[in-house]
Amino acid sequence: MKVLIARLNHETNTFSPVPTTLADFGPEGATFDEAAYRDNQGMRTAMSAFIDLAERHGATLVTPVSASANPSGPVDAAAYTQLTDRIVAAAPGCDAILLDLHGAMVAENSADGEGDLLRRVRAAAPGVPIAVALDLHGNLTDAMVDNADVMVGFKTYPHVDMYETGEHAGRLLFDLLAGRRRPVTRWRGLPLMSHTLRSASFEGAMQRAIDTARAEEGAGALAVSIFAGFSLADISAPCMSVVVVDDGSPERAQATADRIAERIWAERDAFFYRSEPLAQSIARARQLSQGASRPVLLLDHGDNCMSGGTCDTMGVLQEALAQGLSGIGVGPICDPEAVARMFDAGEGATLTVDLGNKRSLAHIGIDEAPMRLTGTVRQLGDGCYTVSGPTYTGQRFNMGRSARFETEAASIVVTERTHEHWDVGVFECVGLDPRGCRFLLLKSRMYCRPVFVPMSAALVECDSAGVTSSDYSRFPFVHVARPVFPLDEMPERLGFADECRP
Ligand SMILES: [Zn+2]
Repeated sequence: MKVLIARLNHETNTFSPVPTTLADFGPEGATFDEAAYRDNQGMRTAMSAFIDLAERHGATLVTPVSASANPSGPVDAAAYTQLTDRIVAAAPGCDAILLDLHGAMVAENSADGEGDLLRRVRAAAPGVPIAVALDLHGNLTDAMVDNADVMVGFKTYPHVDMYETGEHAGRLLFDLLAGRRRPVTRWRGLPLMSHTLRSASFEGAMQRAIDTARAEEGAGALAVSIFAGFSLADISAPCMSVVVVDDGSPERAQATADRIAERIWAERDAFFYRSEPLAQSIARARQLSQGASRPVLLLDHGDNCMSGGTCDTMGVLQEALAQGLSGIGVGPICDPEAVARMFDAGEGATLTVDLGNKRSLAHIGIDEAPMRLTGTVRQLGDGCYTVSGPTYTGQRFNMGRSARFETEAASIVVTERTHEHWDVGVFECVGLDPRGCRFLLLKSRMYCRPVFVPMSAALVECDSAGVTSSDYSRFPFVHVARPVFPLDEMPERLGFADECRP
């Protein structure tokens, strides 16, 4: 038995000016064939689960691609074509196909990155069963669901069940091949643009929806997945959805999806994030810091690295300085131009720099000048560090050349690349101890939390002007099908369950 296994992951923020090229799909770019196989060995990706399963079944593996890029702007057309062509070309002659995809990929030449890929894979290998593992933030489409036999999404956010999701999808596909199960997949999309800060699986309405999905699985459904969707994409439905795989009954699959969708709809307000004005958030942070012996976190979710943020907006720092905050640890701010100036000046030099706001955000109506700051170049470094904390433990990251720039009120880490706060290493690699700061300004929503929350006195979510702003009215959506929540007035009930009860 010959099994095709591939990984192609990207969450696309179509408003982000951060480019996504072939080189961005891995530490050294995408990997192919034997290297793609090696890259997933001993990992906790869905692809590594596919490999383990296929090997247990004694299959011959074909692994044309392993490619995963951080969230950023639309995938470069040449990169999308090359990566998908390799997968499609490997499909003929295979007996099963297992794909580790994200679900919210938009390319310059494809508004439905996964849907177009799956359609081509199916056409290249008609009748060959296809299983897909997806991220919880996938934006589902008919093309995706219609061209797969099994589709399973993560049940956790932060995502800690990638491997288990791959194992789940793969197991169902091997059951299908063995004739033990007859998986049929149906889905229901909701006209609901959720917010990533409301898609955490450990609280609120998302947790309740996922609990329901698990209960349906316990009651006999083969797989039930709740997709929060990824709203920062100007496509027809950057929305929530429910996907159900049933054993043999399309009617039952649809009814289950509809029932859960109706329940989510009734709780739609809980998926909406109400932003607090920035000045108010900073004032609150200031209060929370009174008498605190640990830093107060300022999470700048309007410029969130892992949603395609440019990591160079200065709104939160500006407001913090205006309100007289001091002892602020900031960064990483991505500004290669400022880094070059600091390296030219050298450690110990006093400098006036124009920092941040270098990427044009005019397309979403934001036009801010860089912030002029005078300070001292305290430490320079190569921006490399090894994670000591719980997420990606032991992995080596590279932020590009980095500098610690110290002003009267803030200690700012400036880097050549955008970078998520996976670890205290982002500060320590240029000699800043984050625990010693009164405030920590992080361009992160969720991924910084396992490391930085335990060392902090409090956490304040700050909504700034940026490509990941929580105020959706800021974005010029053109392709989104209307009406949609929360942009439009919507009916109280959608009536899915009534229309579709078998
Ligand atoms: Zn996700």
